Amino acid sequence: MNQEMSFIQREVLKPKPDTSSLGFGKYYSDYMFVMDYQSEQGWYNPRIAPYEPLTLDPSAMVFHYGQAIFEGMKAYKGTDGTIQLFRPEKNMNRLNQSCDRLCIPPIDEEYLLRAIKQLILTEKDWIPDGDGTSLYIRPFIFSTEAYLGVRPAKEYKLLVILSPSGAYYGSQLSPVKIYVEEQYVRASIGGVGHVKTAGNYAASLKAQEKAEKNGYAQILWLDSKENKYVEEVGSMNIFFKINGEVVTPKLNGSILPGITRDSVIQLLKYWDIPVREEKISIQEVYAAHKSGELEEVFGAGTAAVISPVGELNWNDHAIVINDHKIGQLSQNLYDEMTGIQLGKKEDPFNWIVKVAQVGV
Ligand SMILES: *Cc1c(COP(=O)(O)O)cnc(C)c1O
Repeated sequence: MNQEMSFIQREVLKPKPDTSSLGFGKYYSDYMFVMDYQSEQGWYNPRIAPYEPLTLDPSAMVFHYGQAIFEGMKAYKGTDGTIQLFRPEKNMNRLNQSCDRLCIPPIDEEYLLRAIKQLILTEKDWIPDGDGTSLYIRPFIFSTEAYLGVRPAKEYKLLVILSPSGAYYGSQLSPVKIYVEEQYVRASIGGVGHVKTAGNYAASLKAQEKAEKNGYAQILWLDSKENKYVEEVGSMNIFFKINGEVVTPKLNGSILPGITRDSVIQLLKYWDIPVREEKISIQEVYAAHKSGELEEVFGAGTAAVISPVGELNWNDHAIVINDHKIGQLSQNLYDEMTGIQLGKKEDPFNWIVKVAQVGV
């Protein structure tokens, strides 16, 4: 795509929130990136425009048939004031995988990344610089065509919105309790579990509500066919350290291929720590716990980076991991990943993409 991007100025800028009150997904910056699609024109009218409510036709197809996909990534203000992205080309690529599965027309990955960088530069004052904070970036696409027949829509909108986010953890990583879900399933082979589409999250809410009611922060999903093999956590992939070796479920078509997951695997290999991607059953996890070999469990995803698991509840068996304390490997991975993201540590894999240097 080679169209000129336009800029629509807003009259009044919003006040910036206090860094200590950021939380997640509560505040949005002054501008967003928008682009439209019509089948005769392709993607057109790229623009940076004021963040404001949208007007959509009540019969816009997204409300009825759910063609909606998204990505989640972060911009960090490095220690020297540089704005950094972490493997953003992977997010662009996965967005197109999601487009393909939902019959949404593909986007030009390089163009969108350039547009995101320009949006971030426009909004650079919205990047918080407290410890553990970042600017969360949410690109998303949905069908806008006014029509009630079931078929792929002919009109779409792509938006990118920015949300300054607080530290996921306080001063220390705190292990979470996770409920192993045996009644509900998240995704099945041949379905849409491997892409970031809105419906996956709608389908998970019932189980999430049940887990929270019982005092658990998240769910560990099992495979939909045998209710036996571990898949992933709500918005994180899962890793087990058993007797010195790390195991994570192999991508099977119903698991979301996380970029954090891939980065963790690469780091472990770089550190010569044995890591395997393979099917692992919840029975095997329980057996490892019983024999004292289950050393660490952690989730991996953009939001938390690394989230240590202190307890799993499977069928009323409480599987306590490392006495509810964070394991050394989980801590090392967290330190390494966040160190690279903030430019405090060397980046041996060239994961960092710099947006630009801004005044400190
Ligand atoms: C986004 C997501 C992940 C993590 O992916 P990252 O690229 O590491 O952020 C894992 N599982 C699900 C279901 C997700 O939506």
